[in-house]
Amino acid sequence: LLVLENVDKHFGDLHVLHDINLSVQRGEVVVVIGPSGSGKSTLCRAINRLETIDSGTIRIDGEPLPAEGRGLARLRSDIGMVFQAFNLFSHRTVLDNVTLGPTKVLRRPKAEARARGMELLERVRIAEQANKYPAQLSGGQQQRVAIARALAMNPKVIMFDEPTSALDPEMVQEVLDVMTDLAQEGMTMVVVTHEMGFARRAANRVVFMADGQIVEENSPEVFFTTPESDRARDFLSKIL
Ligand code: ATP
Ligand code: MG
Repeated sequence: LLVLENVDKHFGDLHVLHDINLSVQRGEVVVVIGPSGSGKSTLCRAINRLETIDSGTIRIDGEPLPAEGRGLARLRSDIGMVFQAFNLFSHRTVLDNVTLGPTKVLRRPKAEARARGMELLERVRIAEQANKYPAQLSGGQQQRVAIARALAMNPKVIMFDEPTSALDPEMVQEVLDVMTDLAQEGMTMVVVTHEMGFARRAANRVVFMADGQIVEENSPEVFFTTPESDRARDFLSKIL
């Protein structure tokens, strides 16, 4: 579904993505982990062309992602994004946050978008907050709105970049629970996270990055018990 081939990127002298090859199958949940600065966020941003790449190709459903223009806008709506900072529109209600994309970008009728928006808010267990503003919600609730907003665009894949790291500890689980449900429902997901419990439970595959390279790819069972690379062993010994 999503294929990266020989993707390279520099920030000046810093080689931040080094010959990245990655393919994500439909329905697969890939968890990306690695030390701070290893290029995980840059990888997420590059996949959505929020960040340019120097060379290589990124394909979704076999179609190369164009660097710009209308084709990009269309393909971008295939890739949902959920960030650490929820990036909700603060002067819009929760329901508006979820329906703006479908009405403005996908040109869906308002009533239809609102009905579907309410379904999605049910799905992330927050329908009763539909008419509130983001600032009236807890961090965990806001992040669930951000997930509903991503789902509203019917993306083929959703990228999550540390969706729980800005949250108070007691709110982490409610967001991970929603993500686990999505995974079980067959949503294709790429998740950058330090939540190893989620990785063990929900991931089909763990991708370990260090210094802009994919150092190791394994099933969670293998990765967490018998990692193959020294870098991964070293990383796991520090966090587990
Ligand atoms: P973290 O776990 O801390 O979020 P990360 O794996 O997501 O780290 P990135 O944010 O992708 O890492 O950053 C990779 C490297 O690229 C870092 O060394 C970072 O300082 C550098 N970098 C990121 N964005 C830029 C930028 N816009 N300009 C210059 N350097 C950047
Ligand atoms: Mg990051």
